[in-house]
Amino acid sequence: VLADDKTHANAPASSVIVGGGPTGLACAIALARRGWGNIEVWERLAKPPSSDSSVWGDASRSYNVGLSGRGQAVLKDLGVFDAVIDKCAVVKGRMDWGPNGEPKERLANKTYDTQVIQRDRLVSVLVEEIEKKYAGKISVSYDVACVDCEFGADGVTLERGACGENCDLAAARAQGKTVTPVVFGAEGNTMHSAVVREMDRNAACGVKVIKFPNTNPRVYKTIPIHLPSDMRKDLNYSARTKAGVALECLPTKEGLLIGIMLVKPEDEETCVKLSNKESLKTFFDEHFPMFVPWIKDEDIESMANSKFFGLPSFGYVDKSLNMGGQGALLGDAIHTVKPYFGLGVNSAWEDVKVLVEALDDANGDTSVALPHYSKKRAADAKALVDLSRSFDGGFMTFVLPLIVDSIFNKVAPWLFMPNTIQMLQREEWSFSAIAKRKWLDRFMQGTVIMSFMSAVGYAALQLTRQYVWPFVARALLRGGA
Ligand SMILES: Cc1cc2nc3c(=O)[nH]c(=O)nc-3n(C[C@H](O)[C@H](O)[C@H](O)COP(=O)(O)OP(=O)(O)OC[C@H]3O[C@@H](n4cnc5c(N)ncnc54)[C@H](O)[C@@H]3O)c2cc1C
Repeated sequence: VLADDKTHANAPASSVIVGGGPTGLACAIALARRGWGNIEVWERLAKPPSSDSSVWGDASRSYNVGLSGRGQAVLKDLGVFDAVIDKCAVVKGRMDWGPNGEPKERLANKTYDTQVIQRDRLVSVLVEEIEKKYAGKISVSYDVACVDCEFGADGVTLERGACGENCDLAAARAQGKTVTPVVFGAEGNTMHSAVVREMDRNAACGVKVIKFPNTNPRVYKTIPIHLPSDMRKDLNYSARTKAGVALECLPTKEGLLIGIMLVKPEDEETCVKLSNKESLKTFFDEHFPMFVPWIKDEDIESMANSKFFGLPSFGYVDKSLNMGGQGALLGDAIHTVKPYFGLGVNSAWEDVKVLVEALDDANGDTSVALPHYSKKRAADAKALVDLSRSFDGGFMTFVLPLIVDSIFNKVAPWLFMPNTIQMLQREEWSFSAIAKRKWLDRFMQGTVIMSFMSAVGYAALQLTRQYVWPFVARALLRGGA
């Protein structure tokens, strides 16, 4: 849909997108392709280096994200697919070492190849596309945070401020105000969001931010891994210890792997070991010996000296994603999931697609389109987070349903859908449709299991009546005589 380059006759004179991450930049490109002009993107952090820079592959710079079929479809619609995949590595499957040390290679059976790129490099490619193709329509400003947002009769008043990595919005240096007809909040899952905060606070918006306590938290550190030339470069290498420390490695275009070591923050003993060069080296020797020949000493040292990052906790925006025709939220700002199944940026770009479809239907009139977008997408944001949260439990909520789904789907594929993880990768299914379909599957599975158990119980009763009971009765009578 986004590929048509329709022009919105009712496009507003200007707009501001708060957040220059993958969502904000994709949104800016989509709007520019619809004839919108004066689109300002505000990003509170500094501009990332060029996408060709030799810094990429530096594991401490940015983690890798996997672009699935969902995300790739939107990139094609936006006309930036070729530019993005030019900087990606292809991943065709996995090589996993279980706690017993035996490696297992599995190639994925998908209709597309997963493309992998560092998150900040992805941002860099999108900015370069903007500079090349949409310079007259989009301006991206760095070191500019939106520190305050107010919706009024004359438009949205946004206050700009300068703040860096550890920015406290309240203390940010004021740089002036901008009044715009419409603002898009693509601020990600941060403590620094001004638009989300205002929409949550403002009683006139139906927006309700739901944040779940992090019941299964993980922190991580990154390390580069130099695969030898005879090893496949198109696999997701992974290993884990019996105590649950995991090392997940994804390739870069240059052939280096970026390893992410995930650990439970309450496992203080391991966290301390990972923060000292000698003990970290011993930890690799003991638990991840398969990676040791491919790791340089200086990288062990910088990993030990680096700080831990936390994986986000689950959250979503409930009920409404808009403030009339003046504001809408999208991306991680409305649905934050842990990155185990690669749904973050991919679902964020689908938000952009749904937003632009709503704008197309209203010919760019935001007062009609933004409520429409909210109605179409809020249920998906909730369903995505609810489904992902169910994976974050243990055996009963994650492994068992996958096993049950796989058995039923194998026996009766015409009646039962594949497991939830497989369905989440299929872009023709919206998240709310998957949630509903899975509910139906569970109901039917329950009915089949109950019917089977009743039939077995009934048969056992009949057998008892026919054979066991007469035998017992005869024995009793004989005993009595
Ligand atoms: C370790 C890890 C691995 C991941 N792997 C995957 C994966 O394989 N596949 C996948 O799909 N997703 C993955 N994700 C998730 C993915 O990174 C996010 O879903 C994606 O970056 C969301 O994009 P966004 O633009 O919505 O938010 P962000 O990337 O968070 O960008 C938001 C931007 O807004 C800026 N900002 C915030 N507040 C303000 C403000 N007040 N003013 C101005 N600017 C502001 C921030 O500085 C930031 O640059 C992973 C995440 C992590 C942490």
